[in-house]
Amino acid sequence: MATRLPSPPRVGMVSLGCPKNLVDSERILTTLRGQGYQMSPDYQGADVVLVNTCGFLDSAKEESLEAIGEAIAENGRVIVTGCMGKEAEIIRARFPQVLAVTGAHQYEQVVDAVHEAAPPSPSPFVDLVPEAGLKLTPRHYSYLKISEGCNHRCAFCIIPQLRGDLVSRRPDAILREAEKLVAAGTRELLVISQDTSAYGVDLRHKAWPWHGAEVRAHMTDLARELGRIVPWVRLHYVYPYPHVDQVVPLMAEGLVLPYLDIPFQHAAPNVLRAMKRPANEAKVLERLSNWRAICPDIAIRSTFVVGFPGETEADFQYLLDWLDEAQLDRVGAFRFEPVEGAPANNLPDPVPEPVKEERYARIMEKTAAISAAKLAAKIGRTLPVIIDAVDDEGGATGRSQADAPEIDGEVFLRDSGHLAQGDIVPVLIEDADAHDLYGVPA
Ligand code: SF4
Repeated sequence: MATRLPSPPRVGMVSLGCPKNLVDSERILTTLRGQGYQMSPDYQGADVVLVNTCGFLDSAKEESLEAIGEAIAENGRVIVTGCMGKEAEIIRARFPQVLAVTGAHQYEQVVDAVHEAAPPSPSPFVDLVPEAGLKLTPRHYSYLKISEGCNHRCAFCIIPQLRGDLVSRRPDAILREAEKLVAAGTRELLVISQDTSAYGVDLRHKAWPWHGAEVRAHMTDLARELGRIVPWVRLHYVYPYPHVDQVVPLMAEGLVLPYLDIPFQHAAPNVLRAMKRPANEAKVLERLSNWRAICPDIAIRSTFVVGFPGETEADFQYLLDWLDEAQLDRVGAFRFEPVEGAPANNLPDPVPEPVKEERYARIMEKTAAISAAKLAAKIGRTLPVIIDAVDDEGGATGRSQADAPEIDGEVFLRDSGHLAQGDIVPVLIEDADAHDLYGVPA
């Protein structure tokens, strides 16, 4: 019996303005064509029409508005992108029926809007790329990027110079990607961005329709919805703002993994000020203890920089004492290194290399001891473990809820040859060292 292939959706494009805009149009069409869309040379044959606008002069804006009007009259299903995307209110006031408005260079947002308006019709017979995209991670876990860029200006970092201010993805587009990843075998999603706690600020936390209800562009709403889609959701790069308190009950409920990756970088107020770190406030220890009261198993992972310019022995000792109190589960430490173009390079009082080395050794010793004690306390407990690999000798390697892949520890299992990669199983913890756990399926 012959298989009938789905007919692909067709996209029309009206490209206005300068050659830069033309290149953007080509790039958008190239992406869509690669996803199986057909191009339509006329309005009538298109399932959706993209109008790539120019907003350089008033006359160009008027021409853009006329082109939008024409596309609406001729087709009715219109997405606007390009330079006039900055003036979305003007467009929406004149053409409320426009399906979406995105700005210049927001390729991903335009493509997401097309997916929404005319969903692609994937077919394993003709698609070169699987629906969930190509992955470099194993099948059972995937990274999910929710935004690009950053609104902070930390003194040691050049990411805002390289990637610009925060641009969040639409929550419905993120959730659709999560669904595809789960359909392709993902059991653990690692949510990443430069600042996950700031997600949706640029979208003013607006809500989008999602499966008959609405989802706001807000970390809490996104985490909750992701928790309904995938068994394990892990949040990375979160700053301890007050609103982060709202995700901790989701952890206690089991919707989101009891794990927060918070790059504190330091604890001493002088150093944090010089670093220009966000959420730099004295109440962090209080916040940690409140989170632990709500969700006693919450694992906190962090990174710290030692030897930042101006860091005194007293500042460093403050950090060590703070770590004693904070009792973080996982800690990575780095010696400060200047990055070309970072404002921190011009700060006075560089810390000599031998002092940096000595402080690095001290922080590693301290955090290894805290980690060893915390892991030893898990001996005798039964914990859920996700299986990363099964070996030929009846053993397996996995991770507990407190361990992100690559950066945290592992759980080494005996008598587990019957398990498969991606299984999530209860494991009786029998032993521990400074970083890893050892156990047997319970
Ligand atoms: S370190 Fe992180 S929060 Fe700070 S500017 Fe860079 S990306 Fe933003």
